[in-house]
Formats: sequence, structure tokens, C-alpha cells
Amino acid sequence: MSLDALPPLRDVIAAHGLGANKAFGQHFLLDLNLTGKIASLAGDMSAAHAVEIGPGPGGLTRAILAAGAKTLTVIEKDSRFLGALGEIGTASGGRLDIIEADALKVDEDASLPRDGARIILSNLPYNVGTLLLIKWLEAEPVWWSRAVLMFQREVADRVVAAPGTKAYGRLAVISQARCEVRMGLKVPARAFTPPPKVDSAVVVLDPLPDDKRFADVEALGIVTASAFGQRRKTLRRSLAQAAGQTGASAEDLLTAAGIDPGARAETVDVAGFRRLAEAWRAAKG
Ligand code: SAM
Repeated sequence: MSLDALPPLRDVIAAHGLGANKAFGQHFLLDLNLTGKIASLAGDMSAAHAVEIGPGPGGLTRAILAAGAKTLTVIEKDSRFLGALGEIGTASGGRLDIIEADALKVDEDASLPRDGARIILSNLPYNVGTLLLIKWLEAEPVWWSRAVLMFQREVADRVVAAPGTKAYGRLAVISQARCEVRMGLKVPARAFTPPPKVDSAVVVLDPLPDDKRFADVEALGIVTASAFGQRRKTLRRSLAQAAGQTGASAEDLLTAAGIDPGARAETVDVAGFRRLAEAWRAAKG
């Protein structure tokens, strides 16, 4: 059987009794047009190995395979989906590898073939989406070359946010210090079965090259946690916690980074936070 000849997803869900389980953040995409659009955000995958987190009944899985990925590894925690995924695997001509596991605990780098680019795609379970993103952002060496990720709209906005906006915070700084990011596609809640309470959006992240990617994720994590933890205060005050871990004062660190100590965190651009993390590291020794 070919991918085109697979039964409609609604029939597969009915035949295998795959009702959505809220505890696993299950909201399915059954519209092949939409899953095709999401897969196309990955670009040419003919020489690439794709990995999909949370394939569920396999709508996006089918689209990734139909888009021509060289191989696709799926990681699914809910064993109820294995039968339906197995049928897709058979129709894919041996291109699908199914791993039953909690994606937070999987070493994707060790699980994927090494001869080609690796691309992450996912309609992420909302309850673990941000944790998975942080895991991938902090991975060093970076094992993936693009990520196409569906989040709640509010989380997607926080990834791509610009300084001076309400959504700008730690997630924007860490994402943008490590990757080039862009909003790929906005998806209304009604596109899912069952519909979640909020809209979603797909973001596309491309890791920056080694010489442009900020390497010291620990320092960046500490200064952004301190600065945005009390975002209404001036940096002179909010940064006291991070500075306390070094011999320097918040004022010293900010001056070394060329940032006005009277400014608030949300006005400092990503380059400013990179300098601040460097100043923190230099003071910490
Ligand atoms: N990709 C499917 C789609 O678009 O129709 C399903 C998306 S649904 C929002 C999230 C999927 O992630 C579910 O299949 C759920 O079982 C799975 N999931 C939830 N937590 C997971 C985890 N920690 N590791 C792996 N899969 C997980």
C-alpha cells in the first residue's frame, strides 16, 4: 500500500479507538492541506532525516513522508497510536522508525541517522512544548538544522518577540541568541480535533552558525532569569540576584555590557543580553 492509499485519518481514529486524551495534550490535525503546509515549512527534506515528536494518529507524519523526507523517526508516549503508526510505516516503504518514549527523555542525536541534515517537526503537546524547545535550544553540539514547531499562539509570540513588546522575555532572548526565528503559520483553534481553548502558531527556528551562536547558555539563562524575573524593576535592581553569584555589582555588570543600569529588561535587545552574559561570566571567573 502507498501513502496515498491509507484510509482517512477519521476512519483510522475510529477503527483504533483513538479518542483524544487530555492528559497527553492531544489535539489532532486531520486536515491534510494544513499538515502539508506545515511540512513544507521544513524545506527540501529529500536528503534529510526528520524527527517528529508526538505523532498521534499520524496526520503530520503522513505529510512529512509525502513531502519526501529521506527517513522519519517519530517519538510517541501514548502506546495506543502504535498500530496506526505501524500502518503508515508499512506504506512508507521502510522510511519510518517508531520510538515509544517520553520525548523529554530521548537522546535524539543518538537515535537519528548521521548522514544528512536533521529536521525537527512537531505539533507539540502543550504541556511539554516549552521544555522540549529549551532542551533543543540548549543542545550543544547542535544536532538539528531546522525546527518547525507548533505552539500555543502565546508561546509562539514569545519565541519571535522583538524588544519593547509585552511578549519579549527570556524565551525570545534565548531562542534568538541561538537561532534565527520566524513565525511560519498561524493556526486557529478550530483547525484541531478537539479544538483547544486557544489559537496556535508554527514557528521555524534555524540554528545560527557556530561563530554567531551564543555558546554560554548557562550565563544567558542566569542573567535573563534575574532580569525578567522582576521585569518592572530597573536592571540595577532586578539583576542583583545574578550579580550576587559573582564578585561584581549589578551596576558593574551592566556598565561592562554597555547597558544603562536604569533601563528595564524588556528594552535590552538580544545583543545586549549576550554582552551581559559575557560580563557575568567574566566576573564569575
Ligand atoms: N501530531 C498529532 C497531530 O498533529 O494530529 C498529535 C498532536 S497532539 C497536540 C500531541 C501528541 O504528543 C499526542 O499524540 C501525545 O500523545 C504526544 N505526547 C504528549 N506528551 C508527550 C511526550 N512527553 N513525549 C512524546 N509524545 C508526547
